[in-house]
Amino acid sequence: ADYIVGLTGGIGSGKTTVANLFAELGITLVDADVIARDVVMKGSYGLAQITQHFGDDILLDDGNLDRAKLREKIFHNDAERVWLNSLLHPLIRETMLKQCKQAQSNYVIMVVPLLFENGLDSLVDRTLLVDISPELQQQRTMSRDSVTAQQVKNIISSQATRAEKLSKADDVIDNQGEISALKCKVEALHNFYLKLSSNS
Ligand code: ATP
Repeated sequence: ADYIVGLTGGIGSGKTTVANLFAELGITLVDADVIARDVVMKGSYGLAQITQHFGDDILLDDGNLDRAKLREKIFHNDAERVWLNSLLHPLIRETMLKQCKQAQSNYVIMVVPLLFENGLDSLVDRTLLVDISPELQQQRTMSRDSVTAQQVKNIISSQATRAEKLSKADDVIDNQGEISALKCKVEALHNFYLKLSSNS
């Protein structure tokens, strides 16, 4: 596909739920989180670079990346963090764009939690925000994961604010209601994106 819709939203907003509804309509999903893991999986170019830089200590016994150790290495070290980001960000971008190109659907949905924060909105043709209040984000995340209210609050405050995201997004899907209300909204957006992608 040549037309890319970037789907974003804060923690617990409903990105996965919305993305799966697009998938049911035959639209290919490209998931930034999945790709971020793939580029450092065992045998990858990314993991080889990381091992060369940090040494074999950065691996678990089974040869996979020790993510906790890597987090530790970059946590208090800006230079190492910059090094890692300059390795991973281009790799992730390239892989995302390659998967979009290869997709057979009329357009693709690229799911990127930090689309605006990481400037990835410049890669896509259109941005779609899943919007809910911070209170609902907290409530839904806590009923899904075993996390404390404070942990969710910390994550929310590390992400762009609701107002910032609303002002940047081309399209907004309100997910404050029932899940059953989403289907209709997704179908309407799908028809809109089919039109946009056929004109591009
Ligand atoms: P994250 O970025 O944290 O992975 P996400 O944006 O992908 O989250 P989902 O996993 O889709 O969000 O939704 C968060 C939780 O809220 C899930 O348990 C999901 O089933 C639930 N949920 C999504 N939409 C609704 C809704 N409209 N009403 C009630 N629960 C919902």
